[in-house]
Amino acid sequence: MSAVIRDKGPERWPLDNIEDAAGAARPGSWLPAAACFGDPDPDAWFADVREKARVEHALATCAGCPVRVQCLDFAMRIGAQYGTWGGLTEQQRAEQLRAWRAS
Ligand code: SF4
Repeated sequence: MSAVIRDKGPERWPLDNIEDAAGAARPGSWLPAAACFGDPDPDAWFADVREKARVEHALATCAGCPVRVQCLDFAMRIGAQYGTWGGLTEQQRAEQLRAWRAS
């Protein structure tokens, strides 16, 4: 997964505003295929890290999601600061971004 994202240019993340995300696939095109779409606990994707069961539910759902790459790409391009996107928590995305910037 990281290699795919890296190819798209992590130096562009986070972008200043959503209009700059024109290069990313808009959610409307892939959202209907999202594994989280219709989940009975949608707030699990924004659960506090101390709510381990809910965070793990979100991550497990993301792991089997057919649009995980598109979701993560979108989140990184818009600089989403909160929640789980593309199988990464906000902390994991921040760590990934720091690692890319440092490399
Ligand atoms: S990767 Fe996760 S947050 Fe993104 S659409 Fe799929 S299930 Fe939802």
